[in-house]
Amino acid sequence: MTPIQIPNKLPDVGTTIFAVMTQLAQAHGAINLGQGFPDFDPPLALQQALTQAMVDGRNQYPPEAGILALRQQIALKSERLYGRQVNPDTDITITAGATEALFLAISSAVQAGDEAIVLDPCYDAYVPMLQLQNARVLRVPLRLPDFSVDWQRVRDAVTAKTRLIIVNTPHNPSGAVFSPADWDALAVIIRDRNIVVISDEVYEHLVFDGGAHHSVLRHPELAERSYVLSSLGKTYHCTGWRAGYCIAPPALSAQFHKLHQFTSYSAFGPAQWAFADALARAPEHYLQLPAFYQASRDRFRALLQGSRFKLLDVPGGFFQIVDYSAIRDIDDRSFSEWLVREGGVAAIPLSAFYETPPDARLLRLCFAKRDATLVAAAERLCRL
Ligand code: PMP
Ligand code: GLN
Repeated sequence: MTPIQIPNKLPDVGTTIFAVMTQLAQAHGAINLGQGFPDFDPPLALQQALTQAMVDGRNQYPPEAGILALRQQIALKSERLYGRQVNPDTDITITAGATEALFLAISSAVQAGDEAIVLDPCYDAYVPMLQLQNARVLRVPLRLPDFSVDWQRVRDAVTAKTRLIIVNTPHNPSGAVFSPADWDALAVIIRDRNIVVISDEVYEHLVFDGGAHHSVLRHPELAERSYVLSSLGKTYHCTGWRAGYCIAPPALSAQFHKLHQFTSYSAFGPAQWAFADALARAPEHYLQLPAFYQASRDRFRALLQGSRFKLLDVPGGFFQIVDYSAIRDIDDRSFSEWLVREGGVAAIPLSAFYETPPDARLLRLCFAKRDATLVAAAERLCRL
């Protein structure tokens, strides 16, 4: 019999580093500060609203774009926080996590032979998703140690074939945040060019030290050509519910809807009713998130003061980057494997986010954890 052959769609890609480290953590009984997810539950009222939605019979297909009540709440939030009016009828799509929104925005924005610019390091899903569209990826290095964008290098990477740039604020893995000047610089570079922006803002509610989240929605010129992504799973501590959304002007959204029909068609329905209820009844949840996660960041940093890790600044997000060069002089993947086996803590090696990793000894640790988890992990990390 002839062996069955299928094309190898992503020849350079294996299992994601997040799944690998989570499996290793489970196998070794290590504390998992690798994959980014909270180890506590979503608000009880949200859980109850989810159950209620199912009891109330909200169990069949929601509309492709998502239920109107949720889209209206998202429009309200965008106006309140970023001063931008978005039309819930045309500009918002509820998706299965920001991951699906990312896939659809990328698939909408580029076709084979187009060029896309991403920053190096970046979230690990961007490049494989671009490769699936047969787009050419150009990676522009961020500056260390603050992971800021060198806009001159972005300008230099733009060609006549560039159709897309993906940015991410607050940034995964570093937590770096954009200022209004960053958006202005980007606007100048892509003005009068046929280039769209994907602004990955899944950590929009996690900007610390009194800073504001500068959404691209605050920038009228760029908002007209941007897909803005957010994650309800991140905002409500329920990454497993797989809920996110995309905001984009009507022409960009129209294409996005077209593709969405033939991927998932629509996202999990009962959760949409629960999120609509939570956003309407308790906006304080997301308004208090910066203070909530800032406290976790500060606690974790204080606990690590007695360790030999050097802590980089964390302006946003839920990851602490640490320099381990005082502990061992080995590459970050080897160090992560050693750490999970011998140190009992799982982390993500920073090289996983890079095309060209710098000559540095850096790891990413997630502090979106209960106090007890942070204390136990820090105790282990301080022994090294
Ligand atoms: N973008 C970034 C930068 C992320 O960190 C993540 C996952 N945490 C996503 C997108 C995907 O989010 P979701 O879990 O909602 O699919
Ligand atoms: N976004 C999460 C992180 O950066 C992981 C998401 C995933 O595992 N797909 O850790």
